[in-house]
Amino acid sequence: MVIKNINLETVCGITSVLPENDKPEIAFAGKSNVGKSSLINALMNRKSYARISATPGKTQTINFYTINEEMYLVDLPGYGYAKVSEQEKIQWGKLIERYLHTSKQLKAVFLLIDIRHDPSANDKMMYQWILDQGYQPIIIATKLDKIKRSQVQKHIKMLKTGLQLVPGTKVIPFSSQTKQGRDEIWELIETEYLG
Ligand code: GDP
Repeated sequence: MVIKNINLETVCGITSVLPENDKPEIAFAGKSNVGKSSLINALMNRKSYARISATPGKTQTINFYTINEEMYLVDLPGYGYAKVSEQEKIQWGKLIERYLHTSKQLKAVFLLIDIRHDPSANDKMMYQWILDQGYQPIIIATKLDKIKRSQVQKHIKMLKTGLQLVPGTKVIPFSSQTKQGRDEIWELIETEYLG
């Protein structure tokens, strides 16, 4: 994808009316600090348009970024941040559920998992939950640069087993440092979900 212009068009909090967009939406989910903002910035060819935080998990909004006035990248709130209250977690869950239920333009959900670690209980729940909403998420294994090349296949296997991925589910390793995986993600979006 050649990025001509981007714009953070809509920011939705828990009480917001969700936008009824007329162009395809591609959503990104993952626990806080997994590298979601870094991935979205890499996809948009920007350094820091989507916020990258040293302290994870504060802002619980859904952000809609328009790309070339042709489609949306949808940044879902990061989950699993310990300091968020139960009440906030419930409200956050409801916001995402509302979005997954009501969006008429959502074409695909990408779920980000840190390639280094066994998927957490929250990751597993999120994966199952997205499946239950009727979407089969594509997995992005983030922070690829943090493990040795010889360990990549082992870690991908660990991730597949840990999440009990539906056979045939795509797993794309990605690094925001090297940008490895970026082109593959765009190619998938363009060939499978746009146009
Ligand atoms: P978010 O909370 O999921 O949006 O995560 P961020 O994109 O803000 O990243 C959280 C932290 O992980 C930041 O310190 C990033 O610099 C770092 N990070 C994100 N992606 C990568 C990656 O691919 N490689 C490495 N080495 N660090 C990363």
